[in-house]
Amino acid sequence: MRIKINNNFDRINQTYLFSNIAARVRDYSKGHPDADIIRLGIGDVTLPLPSVITEAMQQAVLEMGSAETFRGYPPEYGYDFLKDAIVSHYKDLGVNISSSSVFVSDGAKSDLGNIVDILGNNEIIIPDPVYPVYVDSNLMNGNHINLLPGNMDNGFLPMPDELPSGIEAAVIYLCSPNNPTGAAYDQEQLETWVSYAIDTGSLIIYDNAYEAFISEDLSHSIYSVPGAEECAIEICSFSKFAGFTGVRCGWTIIPDTLISEDGHQLSALWSRRQATKFNGVSYPVQRAAEAALSDKGIIELQKNIDYYRRNASTIASALDDLAIRYTGGINSPYIWLECPDGLGSWDFFDKLLHKAQIVGTPGEGFGQAGEGFFRLTAFGTYENTCKAVQRLRKLL
Ligand code: PLP
Repeated sequence: MRIKINNNFDRINQTYLFSNIAARVRDYSKGHPDADIIRLGIGDVTLPLPSVITEAMQQAVLEMGSAETFRGYPPEYGYDFLKDAIVSHYKDLGVNISSSSVFVSDGAKSDLGNIVDILGNNEIIIPDPVYPVYVDSNLMNGNHINLLPGNMDNGFLPMPDELPSGIEAAVIYLCSPNNPTGAAYDQEQLETWVSYAIDTGSLIIYDNAYEAFISEDLSHSIYSVPGAEECAIEICSFSKFAGFTGVRCGWTIIPDTLISEDGHQLSALWSRRQATKFNGVSYPVQRAAEAALSDKGIIELQKNIDYYRRNASTIASALDDLAIRYTGGINSPYIWLECPDGLGSWDFFDKLLHKAQIVGTPGEGFGQAGEGFFRLTAFGTYENTCKAVQRLRKLL
């Protein structure tokens, strides 16, 4: 063919992370067919949806089967019933947002990846290690990325004073609680980021996918920081909070007060983008999402979150006893540990697989600053988590 392709794709690291993990596990299983392998590598939820959600979904499906209640294309930005439920969810978190700033989507990943469509070629600031979508989508768009390394000294919560000099207005991605490190910014740190963004004319894209796991006294939204409505977009997900990884629903908040230097309202650009390239989230899914935010839904989902939290604290307390340094596990389903004995991420992966039959995720897969670290997740069963912890105690 003589067409031109987007050569920016050549800049993207081929991340063979999960296929590499799968290949190593497959090889090991071939040689050890009876091995009881425990998988603590996945970032996917495992508990089923509570009945308050499945019943709402079933009811909506029945409505779709009747002429009186059938619905066709959904509104591009979400049904009012779900947008209102999201506004009221924020109210419960102590934050006022307007319904017009809410854009319902099929998940946070799409919005995080697509938001570059409305932005020009800006300088980009991304903490390292982090969820790889921010880096890859900006590379695809030809942008220059400034990585801001996390480490044990900054608690994997890099701050603006660690930025190289000379960067002015930038698009800044913050993920808090963070995947993979589980670290979460406190209110004061978020205030510092917001005032940096306002002073430099920057935009923060705040990935709040793990908000429901916050258990300490921390901000549940960037909009609890005064001034954030002038400089921040927040992107959220029903995936981890409500078990929607397979159902697919999320939302993005773009306040009407986000306006570019040349007078463009970011929410108007996003409306236009979505109206052109997105046809909305299905009615049964939006009814399920509404049920997740209902009083009963929140109570039921809290039980699931508590279940994962118990797993996280089981892993964390073993690491405490073993004097292995880590972040996360308190406001997050992820535990990010320093590989013992100075091992590299993949060497530690092999050691855990071969000597304890535990599968985790090598930190290097989330960015260069992840080398020497390792992610374990709390999304397994409690029984398997306890079993894995026993093996870790014996091995390490
Ligand atoms: N943001 C972060 C930080 C994530 O870890 C994930 C999924 O693992 C997502 C977003 C994706 O969320 P969704 O399932 O809503 O697309």
